[in-house]
Amino acid sequence: MGRFAGWAVAALVGWLAAVPAHAQIDPRGALLERAGWDAIAAGQGAAAAKAFREALAADPKNARLHLGAGIAATLERRDDDARGAFERALALDPKLPRARALLGQVQYRLGALQDAIRTYEQVIVESPNDRDANATLDRWRREADLHDRMQRAIGSHFTVSFEGPAEADLAAQALDSLDRAYWRIGSVLSVYPTDPIPVVLYTTEQFRDITRSPSWAAGAYDGTIRVPMRGALDQSAELDRVLAHEFTHALVRTLAARNVPTWLNEGLATALEGPDLDWALKDVRAAGGAAPLPALRSGFGRFTGEQALVAYATSALAVKRMLDEAGGVAVANLLRDLGEGTNFDDAFLHRMQRSFADFQATVF
Ligand SMILES: [Zn+2]
Repeated sequence: MGRFAGWAVAALVGWLAAVPAHAQIDPRGALLERAGWDAIAAGQGAAAAKAFREALAADPKNARLHLGAGIAATLERRDDDARGAFERALALDPKLPRARALLGQVQYRLGALQDAIRTYEQVIVESPNDRDANATLDRWRREADLHDRMQRAIGSHFTVSFEGPAEADLAAQALDSLDRAYWRIGSVLSVYPTDPIPVVLYTTEQFRDITRSPSWAAGAYDGTIRVPMRGALDQSAELDRVLAHEFTHALVRTLAARNVPTWLNEGLATALEGPDLDWALKDVRAAGGAAPLPALRSGFGRFTGEQALVAYATSALAVKRMLDEAGGVAVANLLRDLGEGTNFDDAFLHRMQRSFADFQATVF
């Protein structure tokens, strides 16, 4: 699952219209601010960031401009910058609508669960009837309670959290499996992350509650690898597959925190999770053909199980072709280009040595 995509824009679009018009003395500043909000509404993070940066240079104590800069950073997946901007906005105007909720969301994504909970407790004080905020706070508290109870197994590249002594063997097995994935997949892409990656093993119910993943999801990655310990995980091949898949998402995230089409992210994770893609060929044939890649640009969470199967199979076959034709280093470089903001078609042509249109026409 590519759990990073989607929440930011969804969280923002609904309330943009509620941002109050502000009596600006400096007309250029007003124009820049307007351009910033328009860019945010259009999902253009880089343009928004530039507009708010310039507006702030002239008016550094304007809380709303810091809020805009924070949202722009969120769209660009610059979470640390976003956190700083929201904090500055709130320091200047503690009552700024929605800034606190956005700060909580970004704290959660940065893995600062306790900070996120404290921030949302304040959100609830200010808006006691906000049902979404109450539900989010409840979910985060359940997650914190659960994680407090958990034990940790620490390896060189991963820390695995698990609930009780009964899962200690599985946690040790998971660490071994993750280490194998680290070297195997790292060598395909020539990428070896240095920071330890957090991994949490859940029961199926805990996993659904905390990740809100669709029922077909076998794991999730949102900065933390989260895996439900279904019966299937007792089979080591299935454990290896699920962990290798989610580890690949963690790797992709180190190369590009943004701008990665879902088919590329999921295709890489799926192509590298197991020994072969015979199943994918069969699924695509059974479905009467592959899905068009442009239809697979955004999250798969909206798909039914059957649609998801074709989406994953299509993505995996496309990425396998890229790996075979251009090699893992070229694919890693394509991801780096995308993360730095290069346009997809330009980056694809440069790194794959053929146009994306040409690739699509011949890949299946
Ligand atoms: Zn995935």
